[in-house]
Amino acid sequence: MDVLGYKYSIRYSDELKDDDVPDGILFGKCETSKWQIDINSAYDRINQETALVHEVIEAINSHAGLELNHQTICILEATIYNMIKQLESNEDTQGQC
Ligand SMILES: [Zn+2]
Repeated sequence: MDVLGYKYSIRYSDELKDDDVPDGILFGKCETSKWQIDINSAYDRINQETALVHEVIEAINSHAGLELNHQTICILEATIYNMIKQLESNEDTQGQC
């Protein structure tokens, strides 16, 4: 996946761990120095998709030096995810008209 010209690879793992979140739920992880996004495949599809949107925003935030706080990233994640789903459902209904 291309993020601002950086070729990110997306990995899915059901054993995703983060030293910063020892007991917390980790849906995804972004390593901007390695151009690597990890998604926790132990969770359902919606969580995997929102995690991917979230981690891409984290990558943009880092590479573009936006300095967005985490709450802003979470709001963008939810809004952009809903927009993608809306566009997908529009595509579905257009074919049925
Ligand atoms: Zn985050």
